[in-house]
Amino acid sequence: MEKVLLKNIDNPNSADINEYKRVGGYRSLPKAFEDKPQEITEMVKKSGLRGRGGAGFPVAMKWLFACADTKFPKYLLCNADEGEPGTFKDRPILEKNPHLLIEGMVISGYAIGAQYGYIYLRGEYPGAYHILNRAIAQAYENNLLGDNILGKGIKFHLVVHRGAGAYICGEETALIESLEGNKGQPRMRPPFPVNVGVFAKPTVVNNVETLSNIPLIIEIGGEEYSKIGSPDCPGLKLYCVSGYVEKPGVYELPMGTILRDIIYKHCGGIKDGKNLKAVIPGGITTPVLPPDKIDCPMDFVNMPKHGSMLGSGAVIVMDETVCLVRVCHRTLKFLEHESCGKCTPCREGTGWLRSILERIENGAGVEGDIELLLSVSGNMLGKTFCPLGDGAASVVQNYIKHFRNEFEEHIKNGECKYE
Ligand code: SF4
Repeated sequence: MEKVLLKNIDNPNSADINEYKRVGGYRSLPKAFEDKPQEITEMVKKSGLRGRGGAGFPVAMKWLFACADTKFPKYLLCNADEGEPGTFKDRPILEKNPHLLIEGMVISGYAIGAQYGYIYLRGEYPGAYHILNRAIAQAYENNLLGDNILGKGIKFHLVVHRGAGAYICGEETALIESLEGNKGQPRMRPPFPVNVGVFAKPTVVNNVETLSNIPLIIEIGGEEYSKIGSPDCPGLKLYCVSGYVEKPGVYELPMGTILRDIIYKHCGGIKDGKNLKAVIPGGITTPVLPPDKIDCPMDFVNMPKHGSMLGSGAVIVMDETVCLVRVCHRTLKFLEHESCGKCTPCREGTGWLRSILERIENGAGVEGDIELLLSVSGNMLGKTFCPLGDGAASVVQNYIKHFRNEFEEHIKNGECKYE
């Protein structure tokens, strides 16, 4: 299938509005304005589009919750805080195809009755910040943003807000806190952002990739879109692949592409002809999979049936030379550092897990350490305020579940054979 989300990105001028228009951009916007906002939402509902940020929540349902709230103004917030290690799928859209995102946001804002939008951008993407601002200025100059878009009396304004580098601000309520100028920590839910979001007003938070799918839905209709990819979870998906493969990168494929095909067909297989040892399929907090579990469709519905999650679609491939105790340790070190500290099980638990893993990796592990890891992580699961704590606990449990022998060898031998 012809590329949509990554269309024309190899062209050096792809971020320019004239180039975007030349390849068919901004045609969905006037088409959308011919319909009533409710009709747009109905079309998105028919498409079956689910949020691409990681949770996979049905997009139209979120929009309908916000529409049903009578408070005004409403806000559309684009989550561009792509901070999960291994995840870089939104970056090509932000840097190479920003007008696709802007077009998707104007249409989405029209559908939900929002006249103001924010793009909350990862602080470590300075290039994207300038590119987005230039694209937004071009959209204003071309009457595609402003008080009277295309002379139709429709208003939508857009601002880019840079984050300061906190992983937790990718969680939507922490993102809202940060946008308001507060410490980036998750809020208690309910109330949900669709009712009490930015500045206590109804707010829809959608991911970059999610919003970038909207112009295509308008162009071909919800029903046609629903025929792309997996019947359970339709549409296009950006899979970003890193690690020990021949051709790492961002791949635009139908949702539900088999993980084995992504690694061996699209990415050219394992680097230097080595053997596959493990795959993290959707960002570092999704459960790791051994080689015999990779014949699974990469979508939100089927991955849990195969013991993992789609998450952000960030596939990290590890070959036979990789020490998985070290990977587990490094993951917990990151999560301990990024824990916002609001709740005790995560704040303390990530530190304990990291320190036990550290001594195992350093050859100072003792008998009973594996049971201790399982006990500490078991006491965190389901007891933390947001998914970061659960994610940290399940990372440890899954590495032990599939690769317990490596932990045992480290403890028994007091050294790492992969060094
Ligand atoms: Fe903060 Fe961790 Fe608690 Fe989430 S789980 S609120 S990151 S301390």
